[in-house]
Amino acid sequence: MRRPIIAGNWKMHKTIQEAVDIAVALKRKFYTFSEADIVICPPFTALAKVYDQIIDSNIMLGAQDVYWEPEGAFTGEISPGMLKDAGCRYVIVGHSERRNIFGETDEDVNKKLCAVLRHAMVPIFCVGEKIEERDNGMTFEVLEKQLKRGLKDLTKDDVIRIVIAYEPVWAIGTGRTATPQQAQEAHRFIREFIERNYDRETALKLRIQYGGSVKPENIAQLMAQEDVDGALVGGASLDVNSFIEIVQKAVL
Ligand code: PEP
Repeated sequence: MRRPIIAGNWKMHKTIQEAVDIAVALKRKFYTFSEADIVICPPFTALAKVYDQIIDSNIMLGAQDVYWEPEGAFTGEISPGMLKDAGCRYVIVGHSERRNIFGETDEDVNKKLCAVLRHAMVPIFCVGEKIEERDNGMTFEVLEKQLKRGLKDLTKDDVIRIVIAYEPVWAIGTGRTATPQQAQEAHRFIREFIERNYDRETALKLRIQYGGSVKPENIAQLMAQEDVDGALVGGASLDVNSFIEIVQKAVL
């Protein structure tokens, strides 16, 4: 049985104080909660202060991106060691906004995955097709390519430690959620890819989140799918009550 994992990606939202306030509210609410892993991914500026609040709780800290080098002249970037130092246990890698707005390639994603694993953190590796790719029947082809290139040279032991987020680009921030059947079909494909390229044990252990307009109203149907093990939540994680509701309904 795979343990559910619900992560909130706050993107470029929240001041330090706003982020701390949400963290405190979540900590109070989920003080004795043990049915799922809960991860919050505030902007870089708020990581350390949020960590101070959740350090003794069951809520874990994640970052939204990373650079693969350990240190150096890379103005504006942040290293895996810096994220670890700020308290991060998870790092989102290859989010479609990084790929599509900032030109991140599958090769960049691969270097980031390796760097996060080297620093003993868990990457949340995002994959997903654009609307024109889905409309042209290319969903599985796109997923195969992103998985193959992103996971290049990763061993079975590496893959067991990562989380994959299936995030159809057309569902992110659009209010248009994939149907539970569309999500299941893609998640099944991803699990079968891992079985083909690694082995069955690894595939069965792998946690696969769905992301794309997840809300309190649709989380239960998504989580009811056999291969959906959690959610990566953007917009709806910015409101503490809706995120709380999502977490609660995810484990009903
Ligand atoms: C995301 O940013 O990963 C995401 C899924 O966003 P939203 O929930 O707003 O669609």
